Amino acid sequence: MSDNHAQGLWAASLTNAVEAAPLTADLSVDLAIIGGGFTGSAAALAAAERGASVALLEAHEIGYGGSGRNVGLVNAGLWLPPETIVAQMGEVAGRRLIDTLGRAPDQVFGLIKRHGIACEATRAGTLHLAHAPSGLNDLQDRFRQGNQFGAALQLLDADQVRQRTGSDAFHGALLNPSAGTVQPLAYCHGLACAAQGAGARLFGHSPVQALRHEGGQWHLFTPDGSVRAKALLVATNAYAEAAALPQRPQYVAVNYCQFATAPLSEAQQAQFLPAGEGCWDTAQVMSSVRRDAAGRLIVGGMGNSTGLGGPLHAGWARHKLQRLFPDLGDMPFEHHWTGRIAMTRDHVPKVQIFGPNAYAIFGYSGRGIGPGTVFGATAAEALLTGKTAVLPVAPVEAYAERFTAAQGAFFEFGATMVHSLQRLR
Ligand SMILES: Cc1cc2nc3c(=O)[nH]c(=O)nc-3n(C[C@H](O)[C@H](O)[C@H](O)COP(=O)(O)OP(=O)(O)OC[C@H]3O[C@@H](n4cnc5c(N)ncnc54)[C@H](O)[C@@H]3O)c2cc1C
Repeated sequence: MSDNHAQGLWAASLTNAVEAAPLTADLSVDLAIIGGGFTGSAAALAAAERGASVALLEAHEIGYGGSGRNVGLVNAGLWLPPETIVAQMGEVAGRRLIDTLGRAPDQVFGLIKRHGIACEATRAGTLHLAHAPSGLNDLQDRFRQGNQFGAALQLLDADQVRQRTGSDAFHGALLNPSAGTVQPLAYCHGLACAAQGAGARLFGHSPVQALRHEGGQWHLFTPDGSVRAKALLVATNAYAEAAALPQRPQYVAVNYCQFATAPLSEAQQAQFLPAGEGCWDTAQVMSSVRRDAAGRLIVGGMGNSTGLGGPLHAGWARHKLQRLFPDLGDMPFEHHWTGRIAMTRDHVPKVQIFGPNAYAIFGYSGRGIGPGTVFGATAAEALLTGKTAVLPVAPVEAYAERFTAAQGAFFEFGATMVHSLQRLR
């Protein structure tokens, strides 16, 4: 396996990197944004298109966090089935969130088209794969609920799944034709580039190290510059370098790692995922599989490939690929990388008001491409106009999670155990 950048394959295949030099001046703007992922970049684009002056400060490169490391599945909706969302949030708030995020793939693919973003966008649908008969029961229930709430889902049997994936490891699948895949780091850079084109100023390698509200304005300090702003969006999700932030966003950090092969031959590409759907499965310790534009297979699972259990997760991934696609033989991996997912207790993202004209947004719980795009754009509008009703969820003054470090360690331990056992089968 090659030596790897933090964003693995996505950094290696990035062709549209946006320029973002460090901040070396003192600026005054309408909106300051901390974090250059999907949320921050979508907010910068929406604010700049409204004519606001914007400064986006990113501690590393654009897309350094989850946005540059994810699987690239542009899903409609959250992880939770719609009836659970309504049960948790109530009829009106739940339906608003479901409807808004159900349209999120339209927004993502619409922005890609409008701004000509080169990010391997493929709207071939996603497959939620039944890893076991119990998984098929779960999918049947999600199919019923999804269609009741307006999603045009299709339930596929094992034969149909075999035809689409080239694998007979699955008992059925739920196809969402409105979803798709992107090269996530390239989508993030494309959003940031569009924001820059609309007038937003982007600063990389500019960690916000201190922050205060004084004289009716936010004051942000980086190593070589400062920003004064009327409004502030903290869009750091699971990558908060929080010393500077008044309140650490609250979530459980769950590791997820991915492994990419060399490009398959043309014959192999015609056999395995020929239409290019993005896939994940119903297992509790879930896994994912997709192809990139060059025809590589990318398999992912919970766990940290760069930590102590790294060799174990790598061995599991190789074994997994062979179980899914036995005809492929034993294919080595060329890239691996790991990202942190910010999970909230109820798996619903949070918009937290932490001062005058200031939001922190976090807790996408594994669904951030569509939601990050939507939450970022609406947060910009809400902060600039005061219309909080445009947000997909009502903002909260306070949000707390308990024992987050212990829960994160528990998930990593559990994933390592499950991957060890699965390798023995
Ligand atoms: C491995 C993995 C797989 C995933 N797969 C999918 C998927 O297939 N589909 C999907 O929809 N979602 C997926 N997600 C979730 C999705 O990637 C995230 O929800 C999304 O990227 C969050 O975007 P964001 O912009 O809010 O945060 P991030 O992209 O994490 O960006 C936060 C940024 O803030 C910066 N930052 C932090 N502190 C400071 C500071 N003090 N000053 C300046 N900058 C700072 C960080 O450097 C970082 O770049 C996945 C996540 C992971 C980790």
